[in-house]
Amino acid sequence: MRGTKDMHSIRRPLRPFARIIQTLVGAFLFTDVSAAPVWADAMARMTAPKLQEVRESIEKHKQSREAVSLKTPFEETKAILHCHSKWSHDSRSTIEEILKGAHANGVRVIMFTEHPADHYDFIVDGHQGIREGVLLIPGAELKGMLAYPLKSIKGMDFSSPQEQSDMIKRTGGLAFYCHLEERMDWQVAGIAGTEIYNVHADAKEESRLFLGLVNPLFWLQLRPLVDKYPQEVFSALQDYPKDYLRRYDELCQMFPHTGVAGNDSHHNIGIRIIRGEKDLILLEDIIGQKVAELSIGKLPFLAALAGKSKTGDVILQVDLDPYERAFQHVTTHLLLDEFSREGVWRALEAGRAFVGFDWITDTTGYVFQAETDKPIGVVGSKLPFTAGMKLRSFAPLEAKHRLIRNGQVFGEKTGRDVSFEIAEPGVYRAEVWVQVADEERIWILTNPIYIKGDDTQP
Ligand SMILES: [Zn+2]
Repeated sequence: MRGTKDMHSIRRPLRPFARIIQTLVGAFLFTDVSAAPVWADAMARMTAPKLQEVRESIEKHKQSREAVSLKTPFEETKAILHCHSKWSHDSRSTIEEILKGAHANGVRVIMFTEHPADHYDFIVDGHQGIREGVLLIPGAELKGMLAYPLKSIKGMDFSSPQEQSDMIKRTGGLAFYCHLEERMDWQVAGIAGTEIYNVHADAKEESRLFLGLVNPLFWLQLRPLVDKYPQEVFSALQDYPKDYLRRYDELCQMFPHTGVAGNDSHHNIGIRIIRGEKDLILLEDIIGQKVAELSIGKLPFLAALAGKSKTGDVILQVDLDPYERAFQHVTTHLLLDEFSREGVWRALEAGRAFVGFDWITDTTGYVFQAETDKPIGVVGSKLPFTAGMKLRSFAPLEAKHRLIRNGQVFGEKTGRDVSFEIAEPGVYRAEVWVQVADEERIWILTNPIYIKGDDTQP
C-alpha cells in the first residue's frame, strides 16, 4: 500500500489500510455522508444503473474487438509489477491464490514487491522461478522504489535514493519509483523508470469513498453491487493519472524512464462486520485488523444491521480486491525477445512496454511504432530523426489516439489504425481513449519513442 514518505523517515512502519480508515472513523461519526457534494468520482460511478451502463458498454467493446494485424518481432506478455503476498505484513495471500489471479487474466510475469522485514530476505525467500507457466521475480517495495536487485541487499542501509538505486543496479537489478505522488521532486540518475499509474494512489483521491469505508451502511449497500458488478466496482476508481504523467513527461525529457503500472495488489481491501460483546459491532478489514468498534446504544441505526446476531457472528463480509480483479484492472504489457528473467530485464531497460487498462477490453496486440516506408522501431526505441517519419498507433478497438510530444498534445485522431507525421525530434508517447458509458476513459498509456536530433536530445 503506502510507502514511507521519503528516505529520511527511515523504518517507520508502513501504514496498513486498516489504520488509514481508522483515522476516518471520527470523521464519519460526525458527518452526514449523504450530504457530501456529488463529485465525478468513484462514488458517483457506484450506483446500480451506472454500473449496468458500464457493463453494457464494455460488452459492446469486447464484441467489436479485432486482433491487430500488425506484428512486431517481439512476444507480448502481460506483467504485474508491484504485487504483495503474505511475506508482506499487510497481505495474507498465498502464491496459489496469486497464480489463480494470473491465470484468469493471461498474466505470465509477476514481479513481487514485498515490504521488507527482519524475519526474511525478499531475494532469498521471495517467490521466484517459473511456476505453472508464470515467471515469478522477487523484489521489494523499498523506500519509495520498486526494487529488484539480483543479489541480496538485506541489512544494507542507504543514505539517499541515489545510493539505493546505484546499489540495486550494481547487482544487475532494476529500480523504479513507486507512489510517484510522494516523490515528485526525486531525480535519480540511472533509475530504470517509474510507475505511471498506481491503484492505491488513484483510490486515495477518492475522498468520499474513504469516508464510506467506515460506515457499515455503506458496506451493506455496496455488497449487492460487488456481487453483481465485481470488476466494475473495483475499476470505478480509475481516473486519468494526470499528475503522474506530467512528472513522467519531465523525467523522460531528462533521460529515458520506463513507465509501468503499479497494481499494488495485496488482497486486503474489504470489510468484515462482526457482532461483538454486548451491544458492540466490530469492523475488521479482511486481513483481520480492527477498523472500528461501534455501539448500537450510541448509533441506533445499527440495530437493524445487527438483527438477531450473536457474539462472534459475521454479519457481513465484502471483499473488494481479490487478485483476479486487481490484475484485470490494469497490466504492464512487455515486448519480450525471450520469455525469461533476462528477457524481462531487456524489455524493461529498453522501455518496450505499455500500460493497458484491460478491464475495459484486453489491450493485447496494440502497437505503437515508428515508420518511414517500413517499420523502424517499436515502443521505447531511440531513433535519429529523419524526414517523413511517422508514428503509428494501432489498437484492437476504434478509439481516440492522442500523441504527446514533450508533455504537450501533438495531435489527436480517431480510428483503429492511425499515423501521425512528425516534423521534429522529441519524446513522443501515445494515449488511447475509449468511451465507456457516458465517460471517456484512458485505455492505453505507452512508453515514449525517443526521436533524437543532431545534438543533445535524450
Ligand atoms: Zn505496495
